[in-house]
Amino acid sequence: MCRHLVYLGPSVTLAEVLFDPPHSLVRQSWAPRDMRGGGTINADGFGVGWYPGEGEPVRYRRAQPIWSDPTIAQLAAVTRAGAVLAAVRSATVGMAVLDGAAAPFAEGRWLFSHNGVVRGWPDAVVPLAAGLPVRDLLTLDAATDSALLWALVRHRLRAGDDPADAVGRTVADVAAAAPGSRLNLLLTDGRQAVASVAGHALSVRESPGAVLLASEPHDDGPGWRAVPEGHLVLATADGVRVRPLPTR
Ligand code: GLN
Repeated sequence: MCRHLVYLGPSVTLAEVLFDPPHSLVRQSWAPRDMRGGGTINADGFGVGWYPGEGEPVRYRRAQPIWSDPTIAQLAAVTRAGAVLAAVRSATVGMAVLDGAAAPFAEGRWLFSHNGVVRGWPDAVVPLAAGLPVRDLLTLDAATDSALLWALVRHRLRAGDDPADAVGRTVADVAAAAPGSRLNLLLTDGRQAVASVAGHALSVRESPGAVLLASEPHDDGPGWRAVPEGHLVLATADGVRVRPLPTR
């Protein structure tokens, strides 16, 4: 169900992150190795966000398979960035297939993605949604679990939570309200990234001055390390820390 990644490091083309590796995100859209929870391919949309400089990221999202869009291939070949978040989507049954339902979700410098599903959607999370300003609910990008999760994380960021707390506490709250949910979240501001491992796989590859967090390793090289279930990853281009997810 959905595959996502974040890259932080020296400037590279988007193609180097998305297209070129042998088991690239594009390949993972039609031949993923580790799908759980029902999906088989990730053909319901994709999105890429990248940071061209010090300012806000640029975002490109479409409700179609990434392999069927000639524009992303052309953009990726000529666009360089030192921070990229990207996702390919397998819509949960019953959820809308729209550009706005594809990650990354965004505000200011933040980019966000969710790999998984909220069990008992939407009834299970009504008490959590009730804590959000009505305006946030009326302006969700799409009527999906992932868009609501972003609203919950963003609400915490706006309130001053640091990114690790915003992600960790949101996972804890949703896991308590909707047991059995799969909640692999990914958040970046282009300098640091936070990822939760809660129901799906996540791998990390560190190299000097660069880090990649990805649902699946993009090659069979030795540099990849699987993050254990129930953990939170905090990454910058200079290093990675892993700690247990908070419980409620
Ligand atoms: N439930 C989310 C959606 O429908 C994410 C799906 C996934 O991870 N496959 O968009």
